[in-house]
Amino acid sequence: MNKITIANVPTKIEKLNFFNKHLNKTVYIKRDDQTGMATSGNKIRKLEYLLQDAQNQKCDYLITSGGIQSNHARATAVLAAKFRMKTLLILKAGEINRMEGNLFFNQLVGAKIKLVSEEEYRDLTPMIEELKEELIDSGHRPYVIPMGGSNGIGAQGYVDAYYEILHQEQELGLVFDTIVVTSGSGGTYAGLSYANKESHQNKTIIGISVLNQEEQAVRDILHVLTDMNQYRDNHFCFSASEINIIDRYIGLGYGKSQLDELKFIEKFAQEEGLLLDPVYTGKAMYGLYNELKNGSFQKSQNILFIHTGGIFGWTDEKINMLYGAV
Ligand SMILES: *Cc1c(COP(=O)(O)O)cnc(C)c1O
Repeated sequence: MNKITIANVPTKIEKLNFFNKHLNKTVYIKRDDQTGMATSGNKIRKLEYLLQDAQNQKCDYLITSGGIQSNHARATAVLAAKFRMKTLLILKAGEINRMEGNLFFNQLVGAKIKLVSEEEYRDLTPMIEELKEELIDSGHRPYVIPMGGSNGIGAQGYVDAYYEILHQEQELGLVFDTIVVTSGSGGTYAGLSYANKESHQNKTIIGISVLNQEEQAVRDILHVLTDMNQYRDNHFCFSASEINIIDRYIGLGYGKSQLDELKFIEKFAQEEGLLLDPVYTGKAMYGLYNELKNGSFQKSQNILFIHTGGIFGWTDEKINMLYGAV
């Protein structure tokens, strides 16, 4: 499959001091938070394939959806501006909808934003079909990208990331037996997991969920994995037992924070000089820390955590929770 290439890759792999200091464990981090600035994070790897597909089909209007502070929506909007395409973002309104963070950048790059209620968001298909028809009637060629860019096309980006890691292992002279990643819509996990099978590497891939409970998360990932076969000319079968999802760190729910999570991010920032976000990587790193502290992954020698980005998720509400209003 072809893709447009704009992500800053390969992203660096660095050793973390934090885990050595506190738990006497070696953990590395892959800096996918540095895939870009306006297009930072994991979504750009998926969008490179999705945008190519949209261009192959001569589409000029991207439609996608997500939460009010969706990183995926922001990366899509920025990329669309770069390629002189238009974007319609269908975002689930929260309790607080300030023009800040990702939502602000969406606005800044000229995306059209449609806020919908939680109720409407549960099944967007009819609304998307309608909006698509409207765009077609006004002479556009719309291209619909699923939430998080997680389908068989988008997930190809993390197959590439996996092969990038194998290449870096050779340069670094070490092998990562375990890869840990934050999991939401599941495309990132699916891409890594697919490549793990394709390359016969047998690494342990662990997804720390910040969105769905294990059963639903596994179902979503299996769906993407199956969809991927058609783009790679394989007929792999995947079973739920191959998918490792930890759902103990969702906390109060997607996008919601608790003080202990934010305090952990603060401690990590001060001791490591590295920024995590409250919605995704903060919860997952906190999860990894707690799992290791409690004796999980005993067999893992070299663990690689993929930093999937998310910095713009530091909204006023989160900052106030940590430091109070100033
Ligand atoms: C979207 C996102 C994830 C989750 O990726 P999925 O492919 O949706 O599972 C993790 N971290 C960050 C920062 C994200 O924006």
